[in-house]
Amino acid sequence: MYDQILVPTDGSDTAEAAVEHALDLAEQYGATVHALYVVDTDSMSLSLGGEQLDRIEQGRYGEMEEVRERADRATGYVADRARDRGLETVEHVSAGKPHSLIANYIDDQDVDLVVMGSHGRSGIRRALLGSVTERTLRSTHVPVLVVDVEDTD
Ligand code: ATP
Ligand code: MN
Repeated sequence: MYDQILVPTDGSDTAEAAVEHALDLAEQYGATVHALYVVDTDSMSLSLGGEQLDRIEQGRYGEMEEVRERADRATGYVADRARDRGLETVEHVSAGKPHSLIANYIDDQDVDLVVMGSHGRSGIRRALLGSVTERTLRSTHVPVLVVDVEDTD
């Protein structure tokens, strides 16, 4: 049923809570686990210049190495736990609009299940779902398992 399971992560506690669900399903179906972190260049556009944003989108971080490190920590959390269970794992970091790049990744990698948090780093609970989750639901037809956690973040 599921061969390629995508876990989009922003490194938040809620995204990490989704990981166990993804890994359990991956074990049952013998699926590959894909961990994807999108560096949100829109949210950085107030503090960074156009040239810096272009470089990040090309994957050239230079003195902004800590941005890349944060991304690698987030995907590494997922990948380490997946490998501990003997699962095949792919880590990927890209930069741009999170929901668009999540949707592109789903198409490019033939993802057949997405497992993600209901909320993320901003942790604002006014909305039922965070904007990345809501937009991902709107932009894909593959099933999305949304994991909610109370009192985190
Ligand atoms: P908002 O960003 O709308 O203010 P939020 O941060 O609480 O609210 P979302 O950003 O929608 O909520 O996060 C929900 C889930 O979406 C996260 O648990 C994670 O699975 C995924 N996600 C969020 N941001 C990213 C990102 N930059 N890269 C990959 N996955 C992400
Ligand atoms: Mn967010």
